[in-house]
Amino acid sequence: MPRIGGTPILVMSEDTERQRGKGAQGSNIAAGEQVAEIVKTTLGPKGMDKMLVDEIGDIVVTNDGATILEKMDIEHPAGKMLVEVSQTQDTETGDGTTTAVVIAGELLGQAKELLDQDIHPSLIIKGYKIAQEKAIKYLKEASQEVTIEDEDILQNVCSTSMKSKGTAIGKEEVLAELIVKAVKQVADEKNGAYTIDKDNIKIETVGGGNLENSELIDGIVVDKERVHSNMPSRHENPKIALINAPIEVKGTETDAEIQITNPDQLEGFLAQEENMLKEMVEKIDKVGAEVVFCQKGIDDAAQHYLAKRGITAVRRVKKSDMKKLARATGASIVSSVDDLTDEDLGNAENVEEKRMGDSEMTFVEGCPKAKAVTILVRGGTEHVVEEAERAVVDGIGALTCAIETGEVVTGGGAIETHVAMRLKEYADHVGGREQLAIEKFAEALEAIPRVLARSAGMDTIDTLVKLRSEHSSGKERYGVNVLKGKVENMENLKVTDPTKVKEQAISSGSEAANTILRIDDIISSSGGGDSGGPQGGAPGGMPGGAPGGMPPGMGGMM
Ligand code: ADP
Ligand code: MG
Repeated sequence: MPRIGGTPILVMSEDTERQRGKGAQGSNIAAGEQVAEIVKTTLGPKGMDKMLVDEIGDIVVTNDGATILEKMDIEHPAGKMLVEVSQTQDTETGDGTTTAVVIAGELLGQAKELLDQDIHPSLIIKGYKIAQEKAIKYLKEASQEVTIEDEDILQNVCSTSMKSKGTAIGKEEVLAELIVKAVKQVADEKNGAYTIDKDNIKIETVGGGNLENSELIDGIVVDKERVHSNMPSRHENPKIALINAPIEVKGTETDAEIQITNPDQLEGFLAQEENMLKEMVEKIDKVGAEVVFCQKGIDDAAQHYLAKRGITAVRRVKKSDMKKLARATGASIVSSVDDLTDEDLGNAENVEEKRMGDSEMTFVEGCPKAKAVTILVRGGTEHVVEEAERAVVDGIGALTCAIETGEVVTGGGAIETHVAMRLKEYADHVGGREQLAIEKFAEALEAIPRVLARSAGMDTIDTLVKLRSEHSSGKERYGVNVLKGKVENMENLKVTDPTKVKEQAISSGSEAANTILRIDDIISSSGGGDSGGPQGGAPGGMPGGAPGGMPPGMGGMM
């Protein structure tokens, strides 16, 4: 440590905690592994659910990796990196979040063994990078082509993705059929390639009924009823206005105080207010709007005038719905009634209020501008519908990946086993210490069949041995049939995953592992000095401390 005449030079605040070298790596790896451990048991159709209870007692029961980690409020910085992996996976593909996190955690665990053999992290990272590239190459080579016309395969992709959500078991085919239809309807073709804008598919949940009653609506369903029962409940080919401002007088003004000294004044004031509302409604009518979706509130008097003029209005429409309505109907959202012109209006073939379960909803069907559809997911209890909704999101994500990239692989651990075996063959030709890292990467991929086997109560070692032997004899589609607890041909069982989901899981998982492995120093400013420092803190050197280091948590006491 630098000293001048016996005085240590402190370059950091005394409260700063620092962990270096193996201590830092150790605690980061442990945190990453722990996060992976949390979601591991949810993988696949036999995966277990997690019950998450927040501060105010709201309960979410889910099997979805990204949802679990998002709600868990993980603190450790390295743990957070794994949470980010699941988020990236979710935004890029919409499925495979657990897989990505499991791979990242497993890569860290395997790296730990190499670090214990005194292999330098940079060599591990180099080996992992080579392995990642090769793994993706082998993954692609093992993929099958799929087009938007291959409805059977698409349906398998969708069901496979949804089936891992335990709650929906048995009913996913119904939903899968709807999703395939929905995605096909909104798919845009350009030079033979398809793109799917997921924003054009709205998912609306309805409590009551059951999953089989779910339906696909050609248009947008807004989970709101008309504000006044005297308004028409149906319009054919109406002009539609989208207003992002209250149709009220108060609320538009800033806080003002008016002193009223006699009853006439009050009456005059109220009359004036009513006049202003009347004018607003007149304006809407004059422009030609027959249906109004308002993002804010609508005053009682305005409701009355609107109803009188035969205009149907819906209030407090969600912003996201307003955007969807704008795209689908061609209307522009105006931020004041004054600004409304006939050019801002959109239209649809039919706008109608219908009763769904125990609530009224407004259906905007046959939209001219965008091919917008809504999947109405029905189910008995709130938890079932919510989990079904997450399953639908995953299904849409998987299907979109499959159609956009046109490649699928056999799931149930078959593809991971295949890629791992090819990686090990390749590693044999590499030699040196990188070989070890490539082999470890292969073992990390085998975590997927291993975890699937464990979820089905199978012996994990036996299962991997069996899998490897089947694959060595050319049975590349063999994986873990978790429902029967057997190693079987997963292609026959129609377990199909999009290549892109697997590719993204491998690359974001290994990038996160590499980022974590590259860190050899954790410097945390502990504010008040009373924090315990990084979790799992192994003794590391303190700034200005003796080489032996200090016990963790002592930073603030110096
Ligand atoms: P993720 O969040 O990674 O998508 P899931 O819980 O959805 O995690 O599980 C996905 C894994 O489950 C994939 O590897 C998929 O191939 C596998 N899987 C799906 N259905 C089956 C099945 N019937 N048998 C075995 N594995 C399956
Ligand atoms: Mg999934």
